Amino acid sequence: MTVTPDRPGPTAAAAPAARTAASVDGSAAHQATPGIIDRFVAANRTYAVDFRDGGMDAKPVQKVAVVACMDARLDLFAALGLELGDAHVIRNAGGVVTDDTIRSLTISQRALGTRSIAVIHHTGCGLLGLTEDFRRELELEVGQRPQWAVESFVDLDGDVRQSMQRVRTSPFLPHTDDVRGFVFDVHTGLLREIH
Ligand SMILES: [Zn+2]
Repeated sequence: MTVTPDRPGPTAAAAPAARTAASVDGSAAHQATPGIIDRFVAANRTYAVDFRDGGMDAKPVQKVAVVACMDARLDLFAALGLELGDAHVIRNAGGVVTDDTIRSLTISQRALGTRSIAVIHHTGCGLLGLTEDFRRELELEVGQRPQWAVESFVDLDGDVRQSMQRVRTSPFLPHTDDVRGFVFDVHTGLLREIH
């Protein structure tokens, strides 16, 4: 359990020493990576020097949406051969198809013309180590039950299938005939298709 609240919670005083140390100063996370946002701003100025407006509109060229985990090791554009403007990329913890994912997919298909959906989970996912205890402990710590499910899983392939099923059974999505799911191996870089 590694919940680090933005500010000390009501039970912070009773928390284990390690967590209390992190909770005393809400900026602890910032101190771990000093100035990273400043680096973003500097990098962006360099980026903009050579940036050329490709004249594309908001509709993805390849008419595809990718739902994937937010994992930092997963470079979707490189791994899938995508170019700027090709695809919608919807990422969250686990690459799980939640109500909010359906919201994005619905807009993607109905307003922005996509037709295909790829769901990508990966080996070594952080959600594999969590349980719904995460939610209960969070509630105990902050005094409020989160509205959302953790969506943790123990069966990687099974969760890809469940996510594909949530897409295929959504009443909001007009195009569900080209929905495919994969597990990305963070050690080999290869996708394995789940059927
Ligand atoms: Zn993950």
